[in-house]
Amino acid sequence: TPLVGVLALQGDVPEHLKALTASGARATTVRRPEELARLDGLVLPGGESTTISKLAALFGLTEPLRARIAEGLPVYGTCAGMILLADKILDPRAGQETFGGIDMIVRRNAFGRQNESFEASVAVTGIEGPPVDGVFIRAPWVESTGAATEVLATYGGHPVAVRQGNALATSFHPELTGDHRLHGHFTELVRAAA
Ligand code: GLN
Repeated sequence: TPLVGVLALQGDVPEHLKALTASGARATTVRRPEELARLDGLVLPGGESTTISKLAALFGLTEPLRARIAEGLPVYGTCAGMILLADKILDPRAGQETFGGIDMIVRRNAFGRQNESFEASVAVTGIEGPPVDGVFIRAPWVESTGAATEVLATYGGHPVAVRQGNALATSFHPELTGDHRLHGHFTELVRAAA
């Protein structure tokens, strides 16, 4: 059974632990660089990407995380986690660094003030059955992608689910819906890579 860590500095960590366990993975929280070596996969949760990146720097995690992701560790980021996986952010805040892993430029809080939070049906390539219930909370969208980045879903004309190699990211939060198909898909990716 693969061991999947959830970066537990800030954000919706318990929801991801539950979704991973329900998907047949072993799930554990991660806060220290030493904890990265034994992982078969990693989830970057939703939350506040600026806070998570500052805490990661404080905990000495930024470089170890970058290295592990660059090595091909399967990784899945939701919302703030998507932002952290972007090679580049439009208008980053001071001190906001990403771990990278997906060749894309992400726009934070892209869906605007009026629609800060909403739900929408999203058809995701590779996810069987009905569309996923996409929960968007001050969500980013993908502004542009590099050649190796596959767009798995769009909403309103903007990519909201992408994959590059073993790195997967969604603008929305499947961990909040009780529909574990995306976590199941990620767990399969982790199994295949192990
Ligand atoms: N707007 C947040 C950010 O920029 C992301 C929100 C979320 O994860 N729900 O980090």
